[in-house]
Amino acid sequence: MLSQHQSISTSRSIMSRLTRLLICFGIFGMPLAHAQTSARVAQSAAAAPIRVLIIDGQNNHLWRVTTPLLRRILEQTGRFQVDISTTPTAPVRPALSKTATAEEKAAHEAKLKDYEGALAEYQARHEKLWSTWRPVFSNYAVVLSNYNGESWPEPIRAAFVKFVRNGGGFVSYHAADNAFPEWPEYNEMIGLGGWGNRTEKDGPYLRLRNGNWTRDMTPGRGGAHGPQHEFLIEAQAPDHPVMRGLPATWMHAQDELYDSLRGPARNLLVLASAKSPRTQEEEPLLMAISYGKGRIFHTALGHGMEALQGLGFQVTLARGTEWAATGKVTQPAPSPSALAANRASLHPVTASP
Ligand SMILES: [Zn+2]
Repeated sequence: MLSQHQSISTSRSIMSRLTRLLICFGIFGMPLAHAQTSARVAQSAAAAPIRVLIIDGQNNHLWRVTTPLLRRILEQTGRFQVDISTTPTAPVRPALSKTATAEEKAAHEAKLKDYEGALAEYQARHEKLWSTWRPVFSNYAVVLSNYNGESWPEPIRAAFVKFVRNGGGFVSYHAADNAFPEWPEYNEMIGLGGWGNRTEKDGPYLRLRNGNWTRDMTPGRGGAHGPQHEFLIEAQAPDHPVMRGLPATWMHAQDELYDSLRGPARNLLVLASAKSPRTQEEEPLLMAISYGKGRIFHTALGHGMEALQGLGFQVTLARGTEWAATGKVTQPAPSPSALAANRASLHPVTASP
């Protein structure tokens, strides 16, 4: 009897499982899974896209190349609507290689003259040029900075501080954390920064000691990196919305590994780090910071084209931007095999869809 009972209950259980499967595959009338998917699609289509403003215009990096890729990386998720605001662009001083030939030196002299002419012209029109740059931050849920250049005019700085303090999102991308060493509120927002004569006067290094991030006031410069290479990213806050569902480690595409950043580092959570071959320390590379009611996602990754092809860069940028804007992340995490630890997972992206 017992075995019969077991057998019945087993077969009931199998039937019940079978029924669930059949329902899921839509054999009985309404295809449930499909209906649920459709509902989700309809819901996400109905949800207004998150409005993002990318700021660029001056940077020691190729902002004209990276901004369209950043826009594409965000827009490919279907969650964002991206505008770009470009500041007045200052002429860039031509560089001369240490190994330049006599011919190259002569050509450089000529370029330098052109540069000086352009610079004089820029300086003469400086006030007028900058008076026309008036981004309206409050039209956006989040501002992403791809800017590392001259100080913004005071009214713009004040408007930006007010925007973030009142709950606006901010994403600091790569060299944006080199910008504005003299602007205290900005440094509070980015938490850690580099270059621009940053030293111990600007705040501590963050150092991982026995599983805790500690403030290290050792004197020294803020900001450095070695040659570009692929490196292993290690999640440090796996329960944070930006990191939830991502693998504990993954290999990042070729990039600069920023090290020895320093800054106020208040209200800052290190989301992910990588061990620098230069410092032999875990260096904070993805961070979440709060400033007033605002949320800041800081990614120190993304030097150039190669880094931007990295799936891990793209996923964390898009998730970090959503989190900065809304406090939540609705984008699904890639499967662990798609974001691998033993090789850099690349997802080619170009400026046009
Ligand atoms: Zn760089």
